[in-house]
Amino acid sequence: FDDRDGVIWLDGGFVPWRDARLHVLSHGMHYGGGIFEGIRVYDGRPFKSVEHFERFHVSARELNFRVPFTVAQLDAAMHETIEHQGIVDGYVRPVAWRGSEQISVSGAGTSVHVAVAAWEWPHVFSGDAHSRGIRLRTSRWRRPSPDTAPVRAKAASLYNICTLARDEAEAHGYDDALLLDHRGFLAEATGANLFLVIDGALHTPTADTFLDGITRQTVLSLAQDLGIAVHERHVLPGELARADEVFLTGTAYEVQLVSAVDDRSYAVGGVTSKLSEAYTVVTRRVPVP
Ligand code: PMP
Repeated sequence: FDDRDGVIWLDGGFVPWRDARLHVLSHGMHYGGGIFEGIRVYDGRPFKSVEHFERFHVSARELNFRVPFTVAQLDAAMHETIEHQGIVDGYVRPVAWRGSEQISVSGAGTSVHVAVAAWEWPHVFSGDAHSRGIRLRTSRWRRPSPDTAPVRAKAASLYNICTLARDEAEAHGYDDALLLDHRGFLAEATGANLFLVIDGALHTPTADTFLDGITRQTVLSLAQDLGIAVHERHVLPGELARADEVFLTGTAYEVQLVSAVDDRSYAVGGVTSKLSEAYTVVTRRVPVP
C-alpha cells in the first residue's frame, strides 16, 4: 500500500505518499503505542468526521498520550487530504503513534506523531458481498475484559486479536471472524459490530468489551426512527439459532449482510434491507422522496 502516487498529511504538512515513513525503533511499532480511526467519504463528503476525531482523542487518552492537534485541526487536515487526493467514494485513515526518542516500554519522553491518509475505496469486501452477504466463522480468539486491555480505544495493539481471528477465518474459507468476549457472550467481528434480528426486533451485544461503533449508534437511531424495537443486552452464541437475519455495522463495512455463521445460513431479510437503505440515505444525503 506504500507504493502509490499522491500525498499523506504527516505531522502538520503534506509529504509524498512513498515518503510517509517512521523510524524502526518507534514505540508504536515495538509496544503497540498507537491508535487509529477510519472515516468513510460519500460523494466527496466525509460522514461524521468530528465524532471520529473526538474518538481519536479518547483512544489516545486511554493509552495515556495526547494527540498534538485539535479535533478542528485534524478535521481541516482531512478535508485538505480528501481534496488533494480527489476522493469521491473513499476512506480516510488517521493514525497516531509514539515515536523513537527512547526504547523503554515506558511511554515517558516519546513524541506523538500523526498522519492522515485517504484513498478511493468504494467497498471493503470484493464482488457482490454487499448484497449477497459475508460468511463468518466463530473464532477461538476472544475480546479481553476491560481490566485486561483498553477495550474502548481504537488501539492498534488490540487489532492483533483481530488479525489472528481474521487470518484463521480466511484460512477456513470464511470472509471474517465472529469473536466472543472473555465471558463467552457474542461480541463483534474484526472490524464491525454485530446485530441479530429476532422476531422483527434488533438484538445487539452491550458494548462493554468492544467499540461502541459510530455506525452502530447511527443504525440504532435509524431503527428507532423506523419503529424497529431494539434490545441492547448480553447475547449468547446459542441465540444465533433463533435469529432470522444477522448483519454487521462499521464505517468500512457499512450495513453488511451476513449470509452464514459457521454452518448456519441466513437469508437476505427485510429488516437488514430497510436499515441498509436508511443508512445510504443518511450517508449519501439522498433526498427523501
Ligand atoms: N469494532 C471494531 C473492532 C472496529 O474496527 C470497528 C471499525 N471502527 C467497529 C467495531 C465499528 O466502529 P465504527 O462504526 O465506529 O466504524
